[in-house]
Amino acid sequence: MIEIHAVHKRFHDHEVLKGVSLTVNAGEVVCLIGPSGSGKSTLLRCINGLETYDGGAITIAGMRVDTRAKNIHELRMRVGMVFQRFNLFPHRTALENVMEGPVFVKRVPPAQAREQARQLLDKVGLSHRMNAYPAELSGGQQQRVAIARALAMEPQAILFDEPTSALDPELVGEVLNVMRALARDGMTMIVVTHEMGFAREVADRVSFLHGGAICESGAARDVLGKPQHPRTQEFLRRLL
Ligand code: ADP
Ligand code: MG
Repeated sequence: MIEIHAVHKRFHDHEVLKGVSLTVNAGEVVCLIGPSGSGKSTLLRCINGLETYDGGAITIAGMRVDTRAKNIHELRMRVGMVFQRFNLFPHRTALENVMEGPVFVKRVPPAQAREQARQLLDKVGLSHRMNAYPAELSGGQQQRVAIARALAMEPQAILFDEPTSALDPELVGEVLNVMRALARDGMTMIVVTHEMGFAREVADRVSFLHGGAICESGAARDVLGKPQHPRTQEFLRRLL
């Protein structure tokens, strides 16, 4: 579903991605871990065409990600993104936030988009908060709206960039539960996270990014349970 081959990315003379390769098959969950500044967000942004890359290739379901190509909007629709900060429209209700993309980007008739948005909010456990504005919702509820909004575009994969890092600890679980359910439903996901319990339980694979290169990659139980590379060992030790 997602093929990343030898991707390089520079910001001026700072090489941020140094030949990253990663393949994610349909229905797989890959957790991307690594220290701050290792290039995790940049990699996700390259995958859904929010950022250009300087070398290598990224394809989504066989379609090359090229920010200059005519089909870049279609490609962005194929890949959902959920950010650390929920980025909801503050002056729109939860329901309107979820309807927005289908109505204005995909030209879905409003009545149909509304019904679909209701179902998605129900799926993330927010059927009772559909008409609330973001400021009236907790961080965990806002993030669940953001997930419903990503799903509304019917993406082939969803990228999560530290989706629980901005949340109070007691709200992390409700968001991880929604993500766990998505994984069970067969959604293809790349998840940047520091939640090692989630990674251990849900990820098919874990990749450890360090200094713009993948240092170690493998089954979650191997990478997290018996890391081979000293840098992975050091990183995991510090998380404890
Ligand atoms: P991570 O998400 O792993 O913390 P990032 O991908 O955000 O890492 O950043 C990787 C490196 O790229 C950092 O050194 C960061 O300062 C740099 N960087 C990220 N975005 C930009 C940008 N738009 N311009 C210049 N440097 C950037
Ligand atoms: Mg980041």
